[in-house]
Amino acid sequence: MFDSKDLYLCAIYMPPDNNVFYRKYDLDVFEVLQEQIEHYSVLGNIAVIGDLNGRIGLENDFIMQDNLNVFNCNETDLLNYEPDLPSKRTTEDIKPANSFGRKILNLCKSSGIRVCNGRFGKKSETFTFQNKNGCSIIDYLLLSCDSFSIVNDFVIGDFTTFSCHAPLKVVFKLKGLTLNEICTCKTVKYDCYKWNEGFKDDVKRDLAANSDKVNELMNSLSDEPRNIDEIVNNINSCLSDIVNKYTKTEVTKVLKCDYCNSSKRTYKPIHTRQDKPWINDDCKQLYIEYRRSLKQFNQNKCEENRLILNLAKQRFKRTENSLKRRYKKQRGNMLSSMRKNKSKVLLSKIQETKKGHTKQH
Ligand SMILES: [Zn+2]
Repeated sequence: MFDSKDLYLCAIYMPPDNNVFYRKYDLDVFEVLQEQIEHYSVLGNIAVIGDLNGRIGLENDFIMQDNLNVFNCNETDLLNYEPDLPSKRTTEDIKPANSFGRKILNLCKSSGIRVCNGRFGKKSETFTFQNKNGCSIIDYLLLSCDSFSIVNDFVIGDFTTFSCHAPLKVVFKLKGLTLNEICTCKTVKYDCYKWNEGFKDDVKRDLAANSDKVNELMNSLSDEPRNIDEIVNNINSCLSDIVNKYTKTEVTKVLKCDYCNSSKRTYKPIHTRQDKPWINDDCKQLYIEYRRSLKQFNQNKCEENRLILNLAKQRFKRTENSLKRRYKKQRGNMLSSMRKNKSKVLLSKIQETKKGHTKQH
């Protein structure tokens, strides 16, 4: 990191509190996390990022009025103790904290880490989860309270069709890599030569007009063999001057700087996706509506748009699943009837399917 410390990054998924995991394994995952944070915070910066499945609302993740009672502390405690500093946080999720949310807040208070959501501007305070029941913030970036300066940018991205969770995007400042905040693009000019068949006669005429000059130079070769280099150069430039007149153009090109390359990069899909064999036109239309309502929700995360989105998603998923089931059943029936009658055709069908599968992945 740019502050010369190492960064210990923990990517985490915390199963929700009613999950079977907690009945199977009798342990408090937050306690384990706290132990790990204590262990690694001696070595460097700590960042925890992921789905913590708890809502914290607007409650503080630091200790309020954290003043020391000097009469209750011994001298060494006093030297090591750093009181919490109040730090403002904003949020779109204003519901009060739930049980896991309280555990997150207690973890912050006891390990000196802070919630980054809502502390890096408007784009960091938005909902991270949505489904048919509602919206919430349950995905976080937590960071040691004295290492906020290592974060260049932290935002909650748009919701996608891949998940009910929005992506968390964080940019850390690395040592020796200072990001240029200004554009240093360069314009370069160079010559480009391109033959144009249309100028053929002009070139011929010019060459003929200069033939005396070239002949003269050729003759001087035998007269003054010592000056061979100079004479050859003269012949060369005489010929190229004529041809360049018709073939040379100056090209201007912009060499993009790192700043422009990273901030304006557009991601293009590497390959065009092929529709799955069971997708039909109705299903495609439902998918288009699903994408449209997703876009609308990302622009305005109101209740109405969330309901529209989840209905559109449900309609698409239901249709796709039933088409998929029907397709697989038909394939199954076809293969089993082939097994009885035409074993060779069956083998080639199976190989075909295998090839199709490897292509898709
Ligand atoms: Zn630039």
